[in-house]
This record gives sequence, structure tokens and C-alpha cells, in this order.
Amino acid sequence: MVKEYTHYINGEHVAGKSGRFQDVFNPSTGEVSAKTPLATTAEVEEAIAAAQAAFPEWSATSIVQRSRIMTRFTQLLYEKQPELAELVSREHGKVIEDAMGSVLRGIEVAEFACGIPHLQKGEFSDNASREIDIFSMRKPLGVVAGITPFNFPAMIPLWMACMAMVTGNTVVLKPSEKDPGCPMRLAELWVEAGGPKGVLNVVNGDKEAVDCLLTDERIKAVSFVGSTAIAKYVYATATAHGKRCQAMGGAKNHMLIMPDADLENVANALMGAAYGSAGERCMAISVGVCVGDEVADRLVEMLKPRVEALKIGPSLERDLEMGPLVTAEHRQKVMNYIQMGVEEGAELVVDGRGFSVPGHDNGFFLGGSLFDRVKPDMKSYKDEIFGPVLQLVRVQSFEEGMALASDHEYGNGTSIFTHNGAAARTYADKVEVGMVGINVPIPVPLAFHSFGGWKQSAFGDHNQFGMEAVRFYTKVKTITSRWPSSIIETDFSIPTLK
Ligand code: NAD
Repeated sequence: MVKEYTHYINGEHVAGKSGRFQDVFNPSTGEVSAKTPLATTAEVEEAIAAAQAAFPEWSATSIVQRSRIMTRFTQLLYEKQPELAELVSREHGKVIEDAMGSVLRGIEVAEFACGIPHLQKGEFSDNASREIDIFSMRKPLGVVAGITPFNFPAMIPLWMACMAMVTGNTVVLKPSEKDPGCPMRLAELWVEAGGPKGVLNVVNGDKEAVDCLLTDERIKAVSFVGSTAIAKYVYATATAHGKRCQAMGGAKNHMLIMPDADLENVANALMGAAYGSAGERCMAISVGVCVGDEVADRLVEMLKPRVEALKIGPSLERDLEMGPLVTAEHRQKVMNYIQMGVEEGAELVVDGRGFSVPGHDNGFFLGGSLFDRVKPDMKSYKDEIFGPVLQLVRVQSFEEGMALASDHEYGNGTSIFTHNGAAARTYADKVEVGMVGINVPIPVPLAFHSFGGWKQSAFGDHNQFGMEAVRFYTKVKTITSRWPSSIIETDFSIPTLK
């Protein structure tokens, strides 16, 4: 029997009523493992109403109590980390050790959120004017929506939900319809940890559900992570309806490899950063920019045998390096880009097409692919491929390499590998990209910093998690207060400080 997912509204599982479903696959076998109900507008409105009803009590709950509930939630997440990772691995296809790590990166945000009594403090100016104090506080917004992509079904829902809830908001989460198992479990765990019902609701769905969240006037803010085309649409629609919106989009992350870099370190870093999670990471390195032909020649020599020997198999097996892609459709899209690269004249050093795992012939597997001599005017360079494909570009100078990353329409992450401190510092300072690694291939900041790209990789002006999320999920109220010890005189001019 194929499992049928539900929605999770006001702490209860609610069966989908639309009669529309999306298949969830086990990408390692190609079999349909579950069906996701696609909510109607009326079903999303039910979830919004539950969140709206829970808001007055939750926002009035003391900040210390909210922090304690978040602490219990965090403890439960740690306990359930293996179970959550298995759900991620089973539906997304990333190998189990990688899935464990991705869950942990979400738990780290829950941990950070436990410090909310300190983080959400306002400001106070004593005697700002004579006998007048000014103070400000950060108030929750109300009901907020989270809309998440398929590639991190634990981490990204946790980024959004933990920070939104702990600041006093209630949440309607709309996870990817491709792998909703883990986000559904997170909402159950919230209630098991003592979180009030209605504070975290999950509706499953597609465009119809998203459109309702973007336009319903009870939703005060929308946090979105996904592809750039949808991010732009979400940002334009949500803001046109008067909402706060942060919308993170796609990526094409470059690693600049200087002639003085330790190429063994570079090869080790590139293998994990390009092929880990089958390249389905918004912070994957998909372009290696080699400064000088000698660097490129040596790197190709080092990478070729390693890409050919990648350990690929069913995601729940141990000690593998790569699992399958999420769906057959996505695998086809990646294969089309490989073909495009060949037709555009890039040199395909390793071709991952035609790869299969014995006994798992219907799994959505693809081997690793490596391109050399990719040129910046090729469409396969300009577009995000989002698969296990690494493209090497040859440049003759640091400046030419930095310009590639800066001029690319995406600006999520980038890294530089070098022994030259001045080059590293200049790169970090000048490159037009939101997150930079120095001898670190995937510079995803920890929970006490924040995550966000530039250019076509992010729309809106607050990053995910860290203090940026406290700001995104709260609005400032400022109070000017006087307890007069003498008569207040009439003043017809604008009040000025005395
Ligand atoms: P996607 O844009 O297809 O889907 C993201 C969400 O939008 C899903 O919940 C989906 O149901 C919804 N959606 C899809 N089509 C829609 C439509 N027409 N109207 C309204 N909503 C719609 O993205 P995906 O394929 O799930 O995820 C992969 C993409 O996400 C990649 O481009 C990747 O780079 C990006 N990503 C970005 C970041 C980041 O922080 N910048 C992080 C992770 C993933």
C-alpha cells in the first residue's frame, strides 16, 4: 500500500480533500512510496485560521517559556535525528551520513533560537530628553508562511519555523511536495515537545496552496527558498499584497583555484562540494575556475579517476559518496544539460550518463560528470544545473577569475583556494557574492551568523536565521514615555529634544 500523507493543522492530521495528489518516490528504487495531497485554497485557509487562532495565546506566552519549549523541541530533535535523517534520505535520496548532517544543520538553528530572551531584547534610552525615556521592543508579526524546496526537507523548514515561532509568531509551512515526510514529522515533534497546537501547521500543496499563502491578508510574512523563477514570483506577489518577504533562489557557485593552492586539498574539497548530495545543494560548487592552464591540466588529471570511481548507490546504504537524484524528471533535466555542454563545445572528461546500480535499475541514478574548457558564454555555464556535474573554466589571472563569479547572474556562494593572504582578502572583500569561503569549499554560515546570497540568488533584504531572522520575524515598536514631575506646557512647534 502506498502511504497517503495528510496536512497537519492545529495539531491534528487532516486528510486532503482535493482529490489531487503528487507522487513521492523512493529515488533509490524508482518506486512510488507515498502520495502528497495537494491542498485547495479552502484547506490552506483552514490552516491559516488555526494559526491565527493560536497567535494571541502564543504571542502572549512569556519569552522564557517560549525558550523552554524550544529547548525541549531541540532535545527531541537530537533524539530523533537518526529517524529524521532516514526520512530525508529515503525521499530525497541523499546518502544517510549526509542526511544526518543536514538534520544537524537545522537543529543548530533550533539551538540558537533557545537564546531568544537575549536576542529579542529591545533598546532603552534613559532621559533621552528631559524626563523622557525612549524604548523599543520587537513584536511578532502574526501568522507567517514558510515555503521550502525539495533539497533540504529538514534543515530549511527548521531554519524558518524555529526562528518564526520562538519570536512569537505562528506558522503555516508549505514544504516541497516531493519529500514532505520529514517536515510533517517535525510538526508532530513540536507538539510532542510541548509546543502548543496551531503554532506550527503544515499544508501540502503546489501553486494553488502557495498562491493562497501569498495573497491571504492574514499572512504577514513569507519566507521562501527554491528556484529563482519561483522566488521572483513569490517576492513580487507577496510584496504586492503588503507582506514582508524573503525569497532565496538558485545558484551557480564558483571556486577560484589560484596557482599557489595545494591542489590535493582543492581536489578533496571539490569532490565533496560538487558531487555531495548529487550536486543538489544550493551551495554546491558547480564551477571550478582554474588560474592558468597548468592548474587546470593537473586538476583534471587528479579529478578524472576520482569522479569515475565515485561510490554511488542506494541512499540508505553506508559508506557511499552519492545517492540518486530526486526524480526521474530531474535526472533527465541534468542529462539534457550534459548534452547541451557537449553541443556547445565544452570537453566532457567524465560522462555520468548511462550509469546504473546493479539491482536498482529503476533508481534515478546518474554518475558524476566533469567538464573542462567550459566558456562563460555557454548556456550550460550560465544556468543552474543542480546535479552531479562539475564545470572547469580556464582563466589567465586572479582578476579574470574574480570577474567570472562577480558577473554571473547568481551570487549565492563562492570560495577561493590559495596560500596568498592578500589574494584571499581581496577576493572576500570585492567579489559580488553573498557568502565567501577561504580554503573552505561550502561556506554555509553557522546558526549565529546568517545565510543569504546576492543578485538573482535572493530577493528581499533579510537573510535566513541568526539576528537577521529575529529582525525579519519581528516589527519594532518604539515608546516615548514621560512621567512628569511638573506641569507640561503647550508647545505648537514640533517637539525637539531638550
Ligand atoms: P522550486 O522552486 O521548484 O520549489 C520550491 C517551492 O516552491 C516548493 O515548495 C514548490 O511547491 C513551490 N512551487 C513550485 N512551483 C511553483 C509555482 N509555479 N508557483 C508557486 N509555488 C511553486 O525549487 P525546488 O526544485 O524544490 O528546489 C531546488 C531549487 O532551490 C534550486 O534552484 C536551488 O538552488 C534552490 N535552493 C536555494 C537555496 C538558497 O538558500 N538560495 C537553498 C536551497 C535550494
